[in-house]
Amino acid sequence: MYDVQGNLKTVLGRLPSDVRLVAISKYHPADYIMAAYEEGQRVFGESHEQEIREKHASLPKDIEWHFIGHLQTNKVKYIVPYISMIEAVDSLKLLREIQKQAQKVDRVVKVLLELHIAEEATKYGLSLDDCRSLLAGGEWREMPNVQICGLMMMASNTDDEAQISREFDTAAAFFDEVKQQYFADEPHFCERSWGMSNDFAIAVQHRSTMVRIGTMIFGPRVY
Ligand SMILES: *Cc1c(COP(=O)(O)O)cnc(C)c1O
Repeated sequence: MYDVQGNLKTVLGRLPSDVRLVAISKYHPADYIMAAYEEGQRVFGESHEQEIREKHASLPKDIEWHFIGHLQTNKVKYIVPYISMIEAVDSLKLLREIQKQAQKVDRVVKVLLELHIAEEATKYGLSLDDCRSLLAGGEWREMPNVQICGLMMMASNTDDEAQISREFDTAAAFFDEVKQQYFADEPHFCERSWGMSNDFAIAVQHRSTMVRIGTMIFGPRVY
C-alpha cells in the first residue's frame, strides 16, 4: 500500500504547530483514510457530496469532515447533519440554504467564505468586492445556525512563487480588513485556509492557519 503514514509524518513535520492540516481524501479509498486516522489525523476534506456521505457513514464518527468543493444548494441538506465545516461558500444563496438546513437539524455549521484571487478564470469564489458586499449586506448576521469562521482561497496553479506569495498576501490583508470591520469581537473568525500540496510551504509563510493537502499524503488521485 501507498505509504500514507510516512507521507503524513513528513507533511506534519513541515507544518508549524499552530497550522492545522486538513487531509484531502477525495477520490481516495477508505483504507487510505484509515491509515492516516491511525496515525492520529482527524480532519479530512472531500469535494463531492455522495463520496463524503459514503465515507462518513462507514468511517469513525470522531472524524471532522470538511466540504471543500463547489457546493450546489440542492446538496446542502445532505451534508449539513454531519459536516464540521463548509469551506467554500461563495454566494449569499448558499449561505441562506445552509442556515435553513442547519436550523432544521438544530446545528450550527461552521463556514469559510471562498475568495477568488487567482488569475485562472474558471475557479469559483467571491471577488473581494463581492465578499465586501455580502458582508456589508448584513443578512449573515441573522443566521444563528451559520458561523463564519474565516476565509479560504486557492492560489494560481503556477511555478511563480512570487505570484503565489502575492496572492496569499492579498488574502491575508483582506482577512485583516474584514476581521476589523465585521468580526473584531468574534474570536471564532480566525481561519485562513490556504496552501495545498504544491504551495503549502509558501502559504504558512503568508499567515495560513489551515492547509488542505491531498496529493502529498495520499498520492495522485485516480479519477
Ligand atoms: C483537491 C483540493 C485540494 C488538495 O490538492 P492537492 O494538490 O492534492 O494537495 C485542496 N483544496 C481544494 C479546494 C481542492 O479541491
